[in-house]
Amino acid sequence: MAYKITGQCITCNLCDSVCPTDAIKKVNGSPWIDPELCTNCIGSIHTVPQCIAGCPTCDGCVQISTDYWESWFSTYERLVKKLTKKQDYWEKWFSVYSHKFSEQLQKRQQHQATF
Ligand code: SF4
Ligand code: SF4
Repeated sequence: MAYKITGQCITCNLCDSVCPTDAIKKVNGSPWIDPELCTNCIGSIHTVPQCIAGCPTCDGCVQISTDYWESWFSTYERLVKKLTKKQDYWEKWFSVYSHKFSEQLQKRQQHQATF
């Protein structure tokens, strides 16, 4: 599992010089990690991935998972951590979703009744 740079990156370029495998490149002025070169810093003198260790952002640099659900849950956990009102998030989500779904259903029924 390599690391990747996300949209949260502020292009501070701190990670650029610390990568032991020179995996961090510039693409259109923004840093990008070549997954073929990224070794997760394993085999180097570092005990932790250097790009993430020095990154000043919360999730400007994250680990890529090859497993779909592992990746899904890691994204989910990352996003949920940012929520300020976690307690009623799902309740609100369900309320909005069911409201929208019911609207769509009514529209479809009305459309079908006219034909
Ligand atoms: S995990 Fe290590 S090898 Fe991979 S991009 Fe980050 S610093 Fe480079
Ligand atoms: S250290 Fe983090 S914020 Fe800075 S360039 Fe690298 S990924 Fe982006």
